[in-house]
Amino acid sequence: MIIDNLLNKDNLNKEELVYLLGCEGEEKTKLFTKAAEVKAKYIGRKVYFRGLIEMSNICRKNCLYCGIRSGNTNVHRYNLTDDEVIEAAKFAWENRYGSIAIQTGEVSTKEFVDRIENLLDKINKATNHELGITLSLGEQTEETYRRWFNKGAMRYLLRIEASNRELYAKLHPNDKHHDFDERLECLKALRRVGYQVGTGVMIGLPFQTLEHLADDLLWMQEMDVDMVGMGPYVEHPDTPLYQYRDKLLPLTERFNLALKMTALLRILMKDINIAAPTALQAIDPLGREKAIKVGANIVMPNITPGAYRNDYKLYENKPCTDDAADDCKNCLEARIQLTGDEIGYGEHGNSRHFYRRRNDTTIQ
Ligand code: SAM
Ligand code: SF4
Repeated sequence: MIIDNLLNKDNLNKEELVYLLGCEGEEKTKLFTKAAEVKAKYIGRKVYFRGLIEMSNICRKNCLYCGIRSGNTNVHRYNLTDDEVIEAAKFAWENRYGSIAIQTGEVSTKEFVDRIENLLDKINKATNHELGITLSLGEQTEETYRRWFNKGAMRYLLRIEASNRELYAKLHPNDKHHDFDERLECLKALRRVGYQVGTGVMIGLPFQTLEHLADDLLWMQEMDVDMVGMGPYVEHPDTPLYQYRDKLLPLTERFNLALKMTALLRILMKDINIAAPTALQAIDPLGREKAIKVGANIVMPNITPGAYRNDYKLYENKPCTDDAADDCKNCLEARIQLTGDEIGYGEHGNSRHFYRRRNDTTIQ
């Protein structure tokens, strides 16, 4: 059977990836089984937490798909106080999450850059320098990235969203704030500074084909990234892209494609960290667990104070917006145990790929 040959190959080309992205039934089961085997062999059956703090929904950009874009006047804008962020970080530390991820809309004022720098100091002091810190704060200058890195941020997540420049242009306004080359430059700058670099794409976008998705996988491989967070595109009524909702694949098919993308990425990039994105759970209550079974090894429990969660709505049906942080922890723990994986409590769970590409054997 053609699938057996493909899954035994060391590398897959575009045509083969397109075939695998389209497979169903017994072939899909084989693909998922292979991805699970690769995960167990190269990184083990462990899942690491990144307590997600959605620090602010204020954004200078106007991405055509995103519910918190600056042009959406229906959003109540918020900005957590430093104390609220530190409290959330302490919650993660006390509950042995190992790491946090701070995410915001994109702001690049001097005040914002200084604030993050100071906040990193405060978080580290309050948590005995024991938490791993991921930032996802959009496009910034190399100097800004360096300042934050020097204060202890070790990972940075900046999705390319779509690695095809024509598709990227259809998802963003055509101006200097939404420039494909600039985004690429930022990813290169993050690498130069020394971060574990994460990127990712949305899956099931309007105008997107299986060929685009195959190219996305090959692009991530070529960029040799350390971490990936990718998930289904979920439409939001207050965004320009909503007008194309009739052209979208049904949500269940976008979900199915996202699982296949995760499995294929695990086969292509055996020792990177792959997040099981919350957007999966927006479609299927067991979405993240299904992603863990086919190769994902990172989960991002939301630890944003409950009062703000409803205002960080990137898309419809965002899950857990009503839960307090510890409810989330308990339900997640039980769910992950059901997958048969173990939770790496109190561990950073850094990308093994990052250490390997630097010939460094001290994995933390
Ligand atoms: N502002 C930063 C940035 O854009 O890199 C970080 C926060 S942004 C909200 C995080 C991610 O949310 C984006 O990279 C994008 O992929 C995802 N996102 C936004 N709108 C989405 C949607 N409608 N469906 C799925 N994911 C979405
Ligand atoms: Fe802002 Fe990020 Fe949303 Fe774009 S995806 S509008 S940069 S928060």
